[in-house]
Amino acid sequence: MFGLMMYRPLLVSSLIAHADRYHGDTEIVSREADGAVHRSNWHQVHRRARQLANGLQALGVAPGDRVGTLGWNHHRHLEAYYAISGMGAICHTINPRLFPGQIAEIVEHAGDQVLLVDPAFLPLLESLRPALSGVRHVVVMGACPDNLRTILPVMEYETLLAQASDQFFWPDMDERQAAALCYTSGTTGRPKGVLYSHRSTLLHAWAVALPDSLSFSATDVAMPVVPLFHANAWGFPYAAALAGSKLVLPGGFLDGASLYHLMESERVTLTAGVPTVWSQLMQFLQTEGCTLHHLKRLGVGGAACPKTLISYFEDIHRVTVLPGWGMTETSPVAALTLPKAGQKELVGQARRDWLARSGRALFGVEMDIVDDAGQGLPHDGTTRGHLQVRGHWVCNGYYREERDPLQEGWFPTGDVAVMDADGFMQITDRAKDMIKSGGEWISSIELEQVTTTHPAVQEAAVIAVRHAHWGERPLLLVVLRPEQVLPVEELQRYLEQRVAKWWIPEQIELVASLPHTATGKLNKAALRAERGL
Ligand code: ADP
Repeated sequence: MFGLMMYRPLLVSSLIAHADRYHGDTEIVSREADGAVHRSNWHQVHRRARQLANGLQALGVAPGDRVGTLGWNHHRHLEAYYAISGMGAICHTINPRLFPGQIAEIVEHAGDQVLLVDPAFLPLLESLRPALSGVRHVVVMGACPDNLRTILPVMEYETLLAQASDQFFWPDMDERQAAALCYTSGTTGRPKGVLYSHRSTLLHAWAVALPDSLSFSATDVAMPVVPLFHANAWGFPYAAALAGSKLVLPGGFLDGASLYHLMESERVTLTAGVPTVWSQLMQFLQTEGCTLHHLKRLGVGGAACPKTLISYFEDIHRVTVLPGWGMTETSPVAALTLPKAGQKELVGQARRDWLARSGRALFGVEMDIVDDAGQGLPHDGTTRGHLQVRGHWVCNGYYREERDPLQEGWFPTGDVAVMDADGFMQITDRAKDMIKSGGEWISSIELEQVTTTHPAVQEAAVIAVRHAHWGERPLLLVVLRPEQVLPVEELQRYLEQRVAKWWIPEQIELVASLPHTATGKLNKAALRAERGL
């Protein structure tokens, strides 16, 4: 027997309609390309999203069509999120930091006919022009420089809006229809398209907004430092609308000083980003002796959160650090360091140890670890296995790919993890980054974590090198903080006190910098390639 309750599809348009209706005056603050601060609110975002939907329709965009975006975090990009998905088209966010060739490949693969582009990315687009034969219109999210106006068939965003009515009725549709498309950043091969549905997007936003999760409230000021082009900015644009939070969009200014001043002037209470961004902010705060007065919660994900970041922000700035785990394929937030009863009271080292884990599943996602044959492994905190997930916002296929990625209904993440009896998991490695020394595994992530607790160390990377006797051994590459000196033998002695003896790398190299991927993570594939490994 079916329940006798209404069925209403879960649609992205309902989020912006709600934010406008109940939180219309709540501000959306956005940093423009020239550094100026632009102010609007949920009401204006909704009105302009309707205008954009009309404008896109006039350009021939129909339900199911893909519209690409190449832009930083700003109000026009936010409007585009709502306009494109709301009208039934698919918002394809493109990472401008990818190799130009990959961008062309992705635009082509997605079949984008219209691109919304920041002025800063027009030269990039121009260089790709011959490979973008399918693109009919380029809409510039800002002023178009005169020298490029003649080359590309461009139109300015504001002109498109000025010509469009603000009357647009968001269509009802099946909640399983696609709303957004994001390609993986290709660290594990060719970029693959993850196609989010309206339903998965709303359920993910709800989960992210919950109190023990990232926690969004109408009294919060939320700033996604994670880009809108990286897995829907971890749900910030949607969760903020759902809760009616004020949203602060930092544009392309992600250095420590810019972030700090914006966070202080706009009284940001909640933010999230990858560890590299927070390391830069930490360095700025330490050097300048500045204090964060308003920030309450800091989400860290996309890569393991260094312990130094946790203790710095928690102890010095009294900010709650929220490490999490996810991937483009999981919308992306799947696990956070969600507390259990009693955990909120943990203090000192006990709290830091708890936070140093990668998190446990949010309601709506299930996680497990399995062996090479797919058999379940014990959740005892020490047995490592392949991490697999399933849930309402986990992908079950890739856009325009035949291959079914699932194994027995689970998505294999490619990560290796241990899990304890309470479901807290710790990512030890990506399967391809693991180091097998004399038949035993060495966790590159853990070795990096321990190395970065040394006060002279800024960043560390560990990769496997072949060894005649042990099979593989770890090679440790270290970037020191400015003006620091650290003899390799001293670092070895430091590690000896903190990890098993056989983990200590015989080879340690001090390097000026380490390569990062388009999403700001350590690029181990590039490190291996540089060394011919
Ligand atoms: P890509 O797969 O292209 O790098 P994603 O942003 O989807 O792009 O990356 C997801 C991966 O990031 C995960 O599979 C995992 O390896 C890594 N990752 C995410 N969060 C964490 C974490 N808390 N600890 C360790 N690794 C993490």
